[in-house]
Amino acid sequence: MSAERIDGKAFAARLRERVGALAAEFETQAGRKAGLAVVLVGEDPASDVYVRSKNKATLAANMESFEHRLPADTSEADLLALVERLNADEAVDGILVQLPLPGHLDEQAIIEAIAPDKDVDGFHVINAGKLSVGRSGFVPCTPLGCMMLLADRLGDLSGLEAVVIGRSNIVGKPMAQLLLDANATVTIAHSRTKNLPDVVRRADIVVAAVGRPEMVRADWLKDGATVIDVGINRLAPETGADKGRLVGDVAFEEASARAGAITPVPGGVGPMTIAVLLRNTLVAAHRNAGLEVPEGL
Ligand code: NAD
Repeated sequence: MSAERIDGKAFAARLRERVGALAAEFETQAGRKAGLAVVLVGEDPASDVYVRSKNKATLAANMESFEHRLPADTSEADLLALVERLNADEAVDGILVQLPLPGHLDEQAIIEAIAPDKDVDGFHVINAGKLSVGRSGFVPCTPLGCMMLLADRLGDLSGLEAVVIGRSNIVGKPMAQLLLDANATVTIAHSRTKNLPDVVRRADIVVAAVGRPEMVRADWLKDGATVIDVGINRLAPETGADKGRLVGDVAFEEASARAGAITPVPGGVGPMTIAVLLRNTLVAAHRNAGLEVPEGL
C-alpha cells in the first residue's frame, strides 16, 4: 500500500485565494483593508525569512501589512510601547510578534500585552483559555492548519483514536484540544512517555510535533493511519548526501508504505501556517469592524 500524499501546499494556496477574495469584499464593506502588523526584534535569519514571506503573503491576500523591525537591543519598555500603539491602531486587526525574542525580553509578558482580539497567533493566555473551554477566540495557526487538513481528508473525526506527540503550547496542546473538540479520543505523548511506539500504534490519527528528524518509524503506525508531520528538521552536514535536507519527525518513505495518508516535509503542514495566519487576521478584521465573519472562512 502506498499512502495518499496530503498536499498542504495546494490546500494552503486555495485557502489563501479564498482569504484574498473575502479580504477584497471586506475592504468594500468596511471601507478599509484588513491589516496585519508583524514585529521583528533583532536579525535572526530564519525569523527574517518568515517575516518577509508573511509580508508578501499578506499583500497578495489584499490586506495591509505593517512591518516593524526593531534592533536586537530594544528594551522591553520600548517593545511594550509599540504593542500598545498597535493595540490602539484601528488599521491594525492582527498583531504578531515574531518569536523567538532576544533573551533579555520576556516573551510571555510581550504576548500577554497584545490585545486578545488582535492576537492572531492565538498565543495569549485568554485565547488558550477560550480554546480549552470551547469558546471562540484565536487558535494557533499551525495546529488549526493541521486540523483543516485532517477534516478535509477524514471528514468526521468522532471516536477516532488520535495520538499527538509533543506538548508545546504552540502546537501539541492546542492540537490535542482541537482533536478533542472534534470528538476524537486523544492521547498526548511527550518526552517522558513510556513505550511510545506502542502508544502511537493505537492511533488512527498521528500528529508528530517533536523536532526530531524521522523519529516516527513505519512499524510505529497502524495500517492506514493518517499521519500529520509538523516537524521541520534540517539534517546536519555530517549526514553525507542528505546534508541540509529538510525532513519531518516521521520517516516519510517507509511510513508511506504503511499509512493511509501522510503529509510530506516540505509541502505538508508548513505552508498551512501562513495561510491560517491570513485567515485569522481576516476573522479579526470582521470582528473588529462589527461585521459577520463569512461562512467557510
Ligand atoms: P517544542 O520543542 O516546544 O516541543 C517539542 C515537544 O516534543 C515537547 O513537548 C517534548 O515533550 C516532545 N518530545 C521531545 N523529545 C521527545 C521524544 N523523544 N519522544 C516524544 N516526545 C518528545 O517544539 P514545537 O514548537 O512544538 O515544534 C515541534 C516541531 O514542529 C519542530 O520541528 C518545529 O520546527 C516544528 N514546527 C513547525 C511549524 C510549521 O510547520 N509551520 C510550526 C511550529 C513548529
